[in-house]
Amino acid sequence: MTSAIFSTAGATLITIPPEELDALRAGLAGSACTPADAGYDEARTIWNAMIDRRPGLAIRCKNAADVVLAVKLARKYGLTVAVRGGGHNIAGSAVCDGGLLIDLSLMRTVRVDPETKRANVAPGATLADVDRETQAFGLAVPTGINSTTGIAGLTLGGGFGWLTRKFGMTIDNLISAEMVTADGKLIQVNVRENADLFWAIRGGGGNFGIVTNFEFQLHLVGPEVLSGLVVHPFADARKILTQYQSMLAEAPHDLTCWAVMRKAPPLPFLPAEWHGKEVLILAMCWVGDIAAGEKATAGLRGLGNPIVDVVSPHPFAGWQTAFDPLLTEGARNYWKTHDFDHLDDGLLDTLIGAVETLPGPECEIFVAHTGGAMSHIPVGATAYPQRSAHFTMNVHTRWRDAKEDAAFIGWARDLFRDTAKYSLGSAYVNFMSADEDYRIEKAYGPNYKRLSEIKQRHDPDNLFRSNQNIRPSKA
Ligand SMILES: Cc1cc2nc3c(=O)[nH]c(=O)nc-3n(C[C@H](O)[C@H](O)[C@H](O)COP(=O)(O)OP(=O)(O)OC[C@H]3O[C@@H](n4cnc5c(N)ncnc54)[C@H](O)[C@@H]3O)c2cc1C
Repeated sequence: MTSAIFSTAGATLITIPPEELDALRAGLAGSACTPADAGYDEARTIWNAMIDRRPGLAIRCKNAADVVLAVKLARKYGLTVAVRGGGHNIAGSAVCDGGLLIDLSLMRTVRVDPETKRANVAPGATLADVDRETQAFGLAVPTGINSTTGIAGLTLGGGFGWLTRKFGMTIDNLISAEMVTADGKLIQVNVRENADLFWAIRGGGGNFGIVTNFEFQLHLVGPEVLSGLVVHPFADARKILTQYQSMLAEAPHDLTCWAVMRKAPPLPFLPAEWHGKEVLILAMCWVGDIAAGEKATAGLRGLGNPIVDVVSPHPFAGWQTAFDPLLTEGARNYWKTHDFDHLDDGLLDTLIGAVETLPGPECEIFVAHTGGAMSHIPVGATAYPQRSAHFTMNVHTRWRDAKEDAAFIGWARDLFRDTAKYSLGSAYVNFMSADEDYRIEKAYGPNYKRLSEIKQRHDPDNLFRSNQNIRPSKA
């Protein structure tokens, strides 16, 4: 029997018999793309331009049955598997070199039941898809702050953003999921059925199977939220951040305020003389009654002498897109993250020093403000372990030219090293770069052992390993 070999520049990427490919194509609602087919490049191109991988075959799924066929094919021929949702993961785990790419990005349906306040969300949906459909009914589920992110990877790693302090993490609002296991079975997971898997997928990433549907609990939100930016000269950063921290300690759960340090982008509401200069941005969102929010945010907005204050009522779905123009796909990106219990004086000094040496105009340090409802869930209740009220730093290093990789990556690594002594030791797996495999066990802390045992039961061969990988306990 002759084999079909799909190769690029002479390299063998995957070997399967041609009749197998014909049978697969006949059975799929979606498509199977080799490097020669239309759709292949679209499937393999992801948000982080540093990732340029070439799978042997991309199965572009349209439904759960397609995912089952893809998993069975991978098992039969021992293929490396990568699973793509929204394609945003910084580590690039959504794509593999050689092997099989299972692309879910065409499965974007979101169905809302306004009576039960629940939504069923397909795994290729972006946060924008979810916000659009849920906000049509004045509802929302807590997700992240960049609307082009995929709901699938975000949920499986945990998920937090503007609504988290009020309504919990994305996983805290997951009621059930449908998934395809490593042996190709389609199952339901919830508190009653396959409860171990339901626990594991709430933070354990894509290690346990391929989710083909997420069912979320929704909440009444908006349609307008009091939100926007207050931009300060960076010279005042030390003083403002110290006051910011003490104000947040008492903040109601309706209020979330993230701090961003960077060179000012040429935003239309910023005076031109500030473009390109270092600034501290307080990005805030109040999820409750607008008049109450005006009062509750007055202290934070009254700090220092801001360059601009553009906090006002905005449609929630619009506010969810506020950072999109700064986080477009196609740039080279490298991230580093730490969790902090509080912003220590020494930490603030280190962050401020790092901003003074920012390697490029698109680099920034984000400090996410969490806690609130998220911290009311016990550590062992879901796989995501860091439930204490805390701050999560994400160093977004971003540039365009591959020749500058070493300088930009080096700056991020230095900052990561210098801030480590102030950190809790945990880390959000969804913010981890590809070179951080060594941190995964620590990232899950007390939950790693149980995750590893569940992995052993459900994926002992580690079929799903192109991710922040949890090893089967007997591996
Ligand atoms: C610009 C930007 C802003 C962000 N902001 C936030 C934020 O505010 N809050 C936050 O919590 N996170 C945020 N993130 C991180 C985000 O949660 C992760 O990047 C997440 O992995 C993205 O999911 P995705 O589906 O787009 O990614 P993909 O790269 O497609 O998938 C990531 C991994 O998830 C797994 N996976 C994907 N789909 C499935 C599936 N259906 N079944 C099983 N496994 C699957 C695979 O292992 C895959 O490798 C942000 C990321 C970016 C790039």
